[in-house]
Amino acid sequence: MATVLVTGGAGFIGSHLCDFLIKKGYRVICVDNFLTGSESNIAQLKENPLFKLINHDITKQLKIEGEVDYVLHLASAASPIDYLKYPIQTLKVGSLGTHNALGIAKLKRAVFLLASTSEVYGDPKVHPQPETYWGNVNPVGPRGVYDEAKRFAEAITMAYRKVHSMDTKIARIFNTYGPRMRKKDGRVVPNFIMQAINNEPLTVYGEGLQTRSFCYITDMIDGIYKLMLSSVTEPVNLGNPEEYSILDFAKKIIRLTESTSEITYEPLPTDDPKTRQPDITKAKKLLHWEPKVSVDDGLRKTIEWFREN
Ligand code: NAD
Ligand code: UDP
Repeated sequence: MATVLVTGGAGFIGSHLCDFLIKKGYRVICVDNFLTGSESNIAQLKENPLFKLINHDITKQLKIEGEVDYVLHLASAASPIDYLKYPIQTLKVGSLGTHNALGIAKLKRAVFLLASTSEVYGDPKVHPQPETYWGNVNPVGPRGVYDEAKRFAEAITMAYRKVHSMDTKIARIFNTYGPRMRKKDGRVVPNFIMQAINNEPLTVYGEGLQTRSFCYITDMIDGIYKLMLSSVTEPVNLGNPEEYSILDFAKKIIRLTESTSEITYEPLPTDDPKTRQPDITKAKKLLHWEPKVSVDDGLRKTIEWFREN
C-alpha cells in the first residue's frame, strides 16, 4: 500500500485525514510541531503500525527514510486568532514550509497536494467565487499574513510543477467544521456552540450580515481524497455552497442547541470578508464531488461532540 505524508496531521482537518487514510490501508507519516494541533487528535492512531508521528517544524528541512507516494501539505495556523497570534510562523509555514514539503515530494517523486484556502480570494468582489477569480487581498492588513502565505504557496506549487515536472494539486478549502475543532480556536463554529451550550451570549461580530458557507468535515475529507487521486492539476474549490449570514447562523445554533442564549454584537475584525460562497462547478465536474451532509445534520453531530468533550 502507498505511503502518505501529511503535514499538519495533528490538526483538525489533518487528523481526520490521517484516520481516513489509515482506514483505507495507507501507511501515514504525520509531521506536526503542535503549534495549533494536539496529541489527543491522533491518540487513537499512535499504536497503529501503519502510523508514524514525526514531531517537526516543517519550516526546517526534514529527511524522510523510505518511499513516499503522496505529500499532503496541511501545516498552517488556520483560525484568524491563531494566525494573528503567530503571524511570522504563518508566513514561514506557507512559504518555507511549502518549499520544504515540495522538496520532499520532488525527491520522492510523490504527488503533492496543497491545502490552500478561500482566503486567497480575500474580501471577494465576485460572488460566488469561481477558481478563475484572482481575489481582493490586503497584503498589509492583519489577515495578509495568512492570505499572502497561501497565495505564495500556490505560486511555488505551480513553479515546482512546471520546472520539475511534478504532479501537484491545489485544494482551495472553504470554511470547514466538525468534531476536534478546539473549543477556543476562535472560529465561529466552536465559539457559537460553546457559548450556546453554556447559555452565554453569542458574540456576533459587526451586524452579522457577512456571509459564510459551511462544509462538514467528512465531506471535506472525501473531496481532498478525490482530488489527491485525480489527474486535476489546476486549483479546485472544496466547500459547501450552503450560505448563511452570521446572524442567521447564530440563530440556527441557538435553535439546534435549545439554548436560552441571547445575541451580543462586537466590533467586526479588520478586513473580515463580507461574503463567501464557493462555486463548486469544477469539483462537481472534474472530481464528481459535492457535499452530502446538510449544515443542520453536520451541526447536530458537532454539537453532540462538543457536549461530550
Ligand atoms: P489546525 O490549526 O487545526 O491544523 C493545522 C496543523 O498544522 C496543526 O496541527 C499545527 O500544529 C500544524 N502546524 C502549524 N505550523 C506547523 C509547522 N511549522 N510545522 C508542522 N506543523 C505545523 O487547522 P485546520 O483547520 O485543520 O487547517 C488545516 C489546513 O487546512 C491549513 O493549511 C488551513 O490553512 C487549511 N484550511 C482550513 C480551513 C478550515 O475551515 N478548517 C479552511 C481553509 C483552509
Ligand atoms: N464571527 C462572529 N463571532 C465569533 C466568531 C466569528 O461573528 O465569535 C464571524 C467572523 O467575523 C466572520 C465569520 O464569523 O465573519 C467566520 O469567522 P471565522 O473566524 O470562523 O473564519 P473566517 O471565515 O473569517 O476565516
